[in-house]
Amino acid sequence: MYQTAHQENDHIIDLRSDTLTKPTPAMLEFMMQAPVGDDVYKEDPTVNELERRIADYFGMDEALYFPTGSMTNQAAIKIHTQPGEQLIADTYAHVYNYEGGGVSFNSGVSCKLLDGNRGMITASQVEEAINPPDFYHSPLTSLVCLENTTNKGGGACYDFDEILKIKEVCKVHNLGLHLDGARLWNAFMATGQDPKVYGETFDTISVCLSKGLGAPMGSVLVGKKGFMNKAMRIRKVLGGGMRQVGFMAAAGLYALDHHIDRMVEDHKRAKELEAVLLTNDLVKSVDTVETNIVIFTLQPDDSQLFTNILSKNGVKYSDMGGGKLRFVTHYDYKENSHKKVLSLIESQTKKK
Ligand SMILES: *Cc1c(COP(=O)(O)O)cnc(C)c1O
Repeated sequence: MYQTAHQENDHIIDLRSDTLTKPTPAMLEFMMQAPVGDDVYKEDPTVNELERRIADYFGMDEALYFPTGSMTNQAAIKIHTQPGEQLIADTYAHVYNYEGGGVSFNSGVSCKLLDGNRGMITASQVEEAINPPDFYHSPLTSLVCLENTTNKGGGACYDFDEILKIKEVCKVHNLGLHLDGARLWNAFMATGQDPKVYGETFDTISVCLSKGLGAPMGSVLVGKKGFMNKAMRIRKVLGGGMRQVGFMAAAGLYALDHHIDRMVEDHKRAKELEAVLLTNDLVKSVDTVETNIVIFTLQPDDSQLFTNILSKNGVKYSDMGGGKLRFVTHYDYKENSHKKVLSLIESQTKKK
């Protein structure tokens, strides 16, 4: 029989990522009821419904369901570029750091990386990074990729005014503008920004259903018609054409209805983790928490002490390197686990 995370592993508290959630019994029930067909023929009614729903949500022309967020990003990069060209992104960008080198593997494109603030770049940085198009010695700049919220930047959210300024630069220089919105729902929840305005501003947006929303898989690429007419072929080339995948798309539909509003709990718990970490003298600093990611840096001499306490008590975290640790809150991280983590951090200080 199906078991939830807590039944299986009562002693483990997993804060490594919001991808670790398992479908709830209600989500599974909904998935089992989904009408399906062959999605490569575009005949899966549940996938079609999910795509329509997300396209409408952003007020964009078309959406396409993919297995992963890496694949939606990689498809977008392929849509916007030709081999030999260059994209602009922050040094922290997921497309550059965590997609297996796909930018060069799939599209033959290089990255101009900018040192932004917590994974976010500015319009003037972008403007400066564009290679002059008539200077044929350097790669042709053709795309800007932004990320919101930023993963390596600790769940920080873009100021929309800056995005608008970046859009202006893209217009003037004829560059595509793609958004890696793997955690865009978290950004909307935290800032109250309007998805339709995002839809007007970006050429393509990728969103994930398997992060905070808790579906077992799935990502959707949404965009303007002129760009999306290439997306089906590229998805096929990347091996992402799937058949009766409506069962999985149903999890996404279920999550859109039931798992968005509850993310306020994840954000609240992340804020509470931030607060207790700030009072702990084994912790050197905590990146300001805006959504569901908490990145903090340990005092170099005490890092072992701190991580031992977590490990001994079954609390899993991500090691970001350089003494930085990451917690990510999610729907399988419940109040009882949260209380336990808070009191663990509270009790274990240098003074005690
Ligand atoms: C998780 C994530 C993705 C997609 O990852 P997949 O594991 O391939 O679904 C893309 N961008 C960001 C910022 C992410 O955090």
